Amino acid sequence: MKPRALAYPDLILFNGKIRSFAGENSIREALACAGGRIVATGNSEDIRRLAGPDTQSIDLKGRTTIPGLTDTHVHLSEKGTAEMELIDCRDFYTDVHSIADILERLAKRAADAPKGSWIVAHGSPMQDFRLNDKRFPNKHDLDRAIPDHLVSISFGAHITVGNSKALEAAKITRDTPDPAGGAIHKDPQTGEPTGELHERAQLILRKVAPEFNYLQLKDGIVFALNQCLERGVTTVHDIVRSGEPVRAYQEIYREGRMHARVSILPRVIESNIGSRSLIELGLTTGFGNEWLRVGGVKMSIDGGITGRNACFYDPYEDDEHNYGIIRIQQDELNDTVQKCHDAGLRCCVHAIGDRAFDMALDAYENAVQKSPRKDHRHRIEHMGNWLSTQERMQRMVRSGIIAIPNIAIGYYVGDAILDCVGEKRLTKAFPFRTLLRNGVIIAGGSDSPGYWPVDPLRDIAACVSRKMRWGEVWIPEERITTAEAFAMHTTTAAYVGFEENDKGTLEVGKLADLAVLAEDPFEIQAERIKDLPVEMTIVGGEIKYQA
Ligand SMILES: [Zn+2]
Repeated sequence: MKPRALAYPDLILFNGKIRSFAGENSIREALACAGGRIVATGNSEDIRRLAGPDTQSIDLKGRTTIPGLTDTHVHLSEKGTAEMELIDCRDFYTDVHSIADILERLAKRAADAPKGSWIVAHGSPMQDFRLNDKRFPNKHDLDRAIPDHLVSISFGAHITVGNSKALEAAKITRDTPDPAGGAIHKDPQTGEPTGELHERAQLILRKVAPEFNYLQLKDGIVFALNQCLERGVTTVHDIVRSGEPVRAYQEIYREGRMHARVSILPRVIESNIGSRSLIELGLTTGFGNEWLRVGGVKMSIDGGITGRNACFYDPYEDDEHNYGIIRIQQDELNDTVQKCHDAGLRCCVHAIGDRAFDMALDAYENAVQKSPRKDHRHRIEHMGNWLSTQERMQRMVRSGIIAIPNIAIGYYVGDAILDCVGEKRLTKAFPFRTLLRNGVIIAGGSDSPGYWPVDPLRDIAACVSRKMRWGEVWIPEERITTAEAFAMHTTTAAYVGFEENDKGTLEVGKLADLAVLAEDPFEIQAERIKDLPVEMTIVGGEIKYQA
């Protein structure tokens, strides 16, 4: 695309170390933007000469500037409102270390809330292992700290704890039977519910707890997008499963409240959106504009790993009958992928276990063989986390399938995954060196927010250092370089979004999306990249975040 011819740039950044990521040694001192795009790069003196009377000029004072980062797999609209509204007791986000810390946060909110109202909080999955108390709080703990309110706190997707008042509202007593697919924990001595509700038993409580409304959904999206900007993220690929967030995004955009760019990936199957309706509308990948567009369709073959629903050929370590679950049978998968492929909709298929990987590959090969098309850029979400055998990698490369691994999962809960999947299947976990050597295209997706924040700098640090949050330097031979790790969130991510002409590098003609960092990530210890402060984030030539 040709840059708009304007008399003067709107914005000039000079005296910096601008890493354009366009080939090696492509460092510039200065850059000029006009009409939302980069119109010139070069040395400070030449670029500053372009300034007109209304041009804003920023002295970078030697600081490093990089292309805006992309996270290719987020659940931002789904989780944004919880990010904004719920009391945060998650140890991956906060410095909560004990039940007392949790109670303190809840009591603080309760002090300002009318008696008898709900206090809703969220913690992290498997936090019981990491709390000093080595257990979750129970209703007695909650009653003691918050006697006059109804309390509900979830720990990941599988466990919610309520206090006595909340259980009462949900009519959960010692006589309430376990619902199908759920369990109400009861004290073995007294037979009374402890407050801990597992799986589908959580729904009994959720049914009486307050729900978020549409205005909260919209504000939550704005809130979560602004959080992305704080970590230098200028584009996300967001999975949506109903029309509501799609409508919300359009309104937010029109209201001028959308400060980062979004590609939506509507989920079909087990969703409020059918692939047929998208196809009937004639939507193809890329529909929309630079801020909001359709990135493809998402579907999920198997379940999640922490709930032990990802589908493997071999059973879970401590559960010899559990192989996980298949949510889409092969016929339906083939059919849906084929129809979307033929309609020009890129597919993003979620597969976590090896059986699901093979089903996804079968479906893609089938579609590509029937109607060959080079530039489909179909993806497998979570492929590249483990079990990337030589055969699977060859199939990926042969059919041009992109892998979207999630190092954040390894970084935060790799130890727990080792426990449930076993060492043998994870000898080659997150094998990014091997994947790149074999020519597999990989881009980074964090699966956040919710369990952990959107933060590609953390993920880049983990890819380069292999140092996990739980302490281990995990499989160091699979380290990749800093440049390769950044590519997963810039150049390659732009390709994955069909946006390589607009994003990924800082070159003339591309969108002026960039992040100014406190230090040069290429010149510090890899592990420290995760703590690098982002000092400024610019999207479309406008400062959208400033520290
Ligand atoms: Zn996901």
